[in-house]
Amino acid sequence: MDDLKYGTRNKRGDWAPNKPVETAPLFVFPPKLLAIAKWLPHYFFPWNVIFAASAVAYWALIIPSVETLQTLSVGWALWLYAVNAACVFLFYGAFELHLYVLKRQENRFKYNGKFPADQKNNVFWFDRQNVDNMLRTFLSGVTIWTGIEVVMLWAHANGYAPWLSFSENPWTLALVALVVPVIHEFHFFCIHRLIHTPFLYKWVHSVHHNSVNPSPWSSLSMHPVEHILYLGTAFYHLILPSNPILMLYQLHYAGFGAIPGHVGFDKVEVGEDKLVDSHAYAHYLHHKYFEVNYGDALIPLDKWFGTWHDGSADGEARMQERYRKRKERLSARKASSELQGAAK
Ligand SMILES: [Zn+2]
Ligand SMILES: [Zn+2]
Repeated sequence: MDDLKYGTRNKRGDWAPNKPVETAPLFVFPPKLLAIAKWLPHYFFPWNVIFAASAVAYWALIIPSVETLQTLSVGWALWLYAVNAACVFLFYGAFELHLYVLKRQENRFKYNGKFPADQKNNVFWFDRQNVDNMLRTFLSGVTIWTGIEVVMLWAHANGYAPWLSFSENPWTLALVALVVPVIHEFHFFCIHRLIHTPFLYKWVHSVHHNSVNPSPWSSLSMHPVEHILYLGTAFYHLILPSNPILMLYQLHYAGFGAIPGHVGFDKVEVGEDKLVDSHAYAHYLHHKYFEVNYGDALIPLDKWFGTWHDGSADGEARMQERYRKRKERLSARKASSELQGAAK
């Protein structure tokens, strides 16, 4: 597969797509119906369908009976931790094995020409990005994921969270299922913007940003406070007309759904000639430049707030202009406080 048909590679070996990243054609006025119709299949396939199907499979095969869920117990909480950990290991591990261990597509479509395992870095536990990222994923990530899952299932089973049935409320539940990714996007943008404020960035979010060159295990490599905020998207189902399966979909959308944004490759080659888009470039640029693309472009929030970078030369110029203006503001503020100090 010739990746140079789709992008260019610079001297350092970093690949970039030719086409700028596009935001989803939602939330624009007047509505672009044709664009929405063209985009809609990508909304479902493959990623959203995988996360929704995993929620249904959990409900059918993994989640204990309602009577069991009504009483909190270590037994079923540990069972859920074990299943979540196994699924994360297999799902994240499949990408890691395919792209980073066996390097089956070498550096084709890879944004950063380097592989994290080739470099030691003392910002990471044991100086290794992968070891650090995996430990954070399983010690804190999957634990908090399971904790939120347990609390929410217990709340649904005891009537503290809505439990609508598919037979009686098919349209309401279909609508909620449809907007699960939109809820995620809104929530993620808000908490992500929040943890980029200086204090929270230093103490919380910098852990995730240690992975400047993200790989699959970076997806859930976060500080525990960020895990709570990020996976807390499931709590919307305490008030939405929903049920435990849609709550699980929301949780899986966050937990398993963190993967596509961090695979580090624009496209994953499947078989001889099939390519699956990761849609990772916007978030890759976030890891590269820090202060752009707080969201994943499903809602054009970054465009509205002026932090959108689509990977093009124009996007780069807009970002540089923003940095320049901020620098100017900061130095003007510094100069005026110095003047005030001198006048005293
Ligand atoms: Zn990230
Ligand atoms: Zn960030």
